[in-house]
Amino acid sequence: MRTLSEIREAHPDWNVNPTPRMGSLVNCADCGKRVEFGRTYTSLEAFTDGGAFGLPVCGECYTKELHRRGERNG
Ligand SMILES: [Zn+2]
Repeated sequence: MRTLSEIREAHPDWNVNPTPRMGSLVNCADCGKRVEFGRTYTSLEAFTDGGAFGLPVCGECYTKELHRRGERNG
């Protein structure tokens, strides 16, 4: 699991704000691709520092996360 602070430290130029305005551009918290917020998914692996909210990720990364979760669970 990664947190917002870790991602911001590693990629200071990324906008990974978990609560942006609809329609604003954010960076995928995993690959950094710029995506319209309304088209992002809630990450299963990257969270705000308290762990309360998943960060926005692009569809491709979300699919990878789902596969990784599926492999772990059996
Ligand atoms: Zn991505």
